[in-house]
Amino acid sequence: MTVNAYGAHAGDKPLEPIEITRRAPGLQDVQIDIAYCGICHSDLHQVRAEWAGTLFPCVPGHEIVGRVSAVGAQVSGFAVGDLVGVGCLVDSCQHCEDCESGLENYCDNTVLTYNSPSAEAPGHTLGGYSEQIVVHERYVLHVRHPEEQLAAVAPLLCAGITTYSPLRHWNAGPGKKVGIVGIGGLGHMGVKLAHAMGAHVVAFTTSDSKRQAALDLGADEVVVSRNPEEMAKHATSFDLIVNTVAAPHDLDAFLLLLKRDGTMTLVGAPATPHPSPGVFNLILKRRSIAGSAIGGIPETQQMLDFCAEHGIVADIELIRADEINTAYERMLKGDVKYRFVIDNATLSA
Ligand code: NAP
Ligand code: ZN
Repeated sequence: MTVNAYGAHAGDKPLEPIEITRRAPGLQDVQIDIAYCGICHSDLHQVRAEWAGTLFPCVPGHEIVGRVSAVGAQVSGFAVGDLVGVGCLVDSCQHCEDCESGLENYCDNTVLTYNSPSAEAPGHTLGGYSEQIVVHERYVLHVRHPEEQLAAVAPLLCAGITTYSPLRHWNAGPGKKVGIVGIGGLGHMGVKLAHAMGAHVVAFTTSDSKRQAALDLGADEVVVSRNPEEMAKHATSFDLIVNTVAAPHDLDAFLLLLKRDGTMTLVGAPATPHPSPGVFNLILKRRSIAGSAIGGIPETQQMLDFCAEHGIVADIELIRADEINTAYERMLKGDVKYRFVIDNATLSA
């Protein structure tokens, strides 16, 4: 089927309306009419070819929510009319150790929602800036929030799970001091989630103007990271820091805030590397620097259910499809609180 989408034909070209085709649902496939799709900073990195290997035309989008419009004959978990979500993954090998552990996000053969090689036209996957998507049921999530919150649920599918997974893995909870660095799409979800898990949450921002806003999100304290005196007050005190910053920066400034055995996990993925951290800052307190990629499918469902139970959604600005290029520029300036979400009904306008 031919559907309307928004995509780019080259890294230096803006996104524009484009027609794409979707397969008819196979036996285990779920066909979804996409209602909303969030704009992740990864979309911008990818569509502008800042990371290696962008395949064009590129239709980004991996924060997808909508309603099931058809299911294959062997689909057991979903029915027409269900509210569902799709995140960054649409397939994986399904039998390696990672897949069998429900950590499909670490499979060596993941098929990402966009920009992964595919047998279908145009030879690679195309994402959620489109009217419809067809996905194997294993990679489709149930949305249990009220329907009126659907647009604000979309960012949970990437920004939500990418912060939830490391917070869980490194045991954020009561009695733990957790830092979230960069209060953008990922970071604002990190603050909300760490707060709901019961941790003492400190938001680190470069923007003085986000001070009150970060407290409103649930942070117990806010530190403007450009201010060395404010930073020094938190020396050697954190159990965990989740760093979402999308640009290279001085990691030592944050490493020094970890207590003995503390971990800073990097989830931000800048196009060029961070300056190498000082080895003694690691050695002397047995500190760790780690990384974390989105989350597995069972954990993504767990995160969505946790958010539904705690009334957590993203803070969003809903936009029309023809505002996507402007939204990218504003995201680069940090001018969004905190996630742009596309109203996919405007793709056909
Ligand atoms: P975003 O909304 O643009 O937020 C990034 C935040 O980082 C900004 O709001 C800003 O926060 C801070 N920041 C940006 N530039 C900075 C600079 N030069 N110096 C210091 N701080 C800066 O982006 P996002 O969608 O949250 O994504 C963040 C990063 O995570 C991107 O690189 C994205 O590709 C990556 N990502 C990784 C995964 C994964 O699986 N690991 C998944 C999704 C996204 P303040 O104004 O508060 O300082
Ligand atoms: Zn993302």
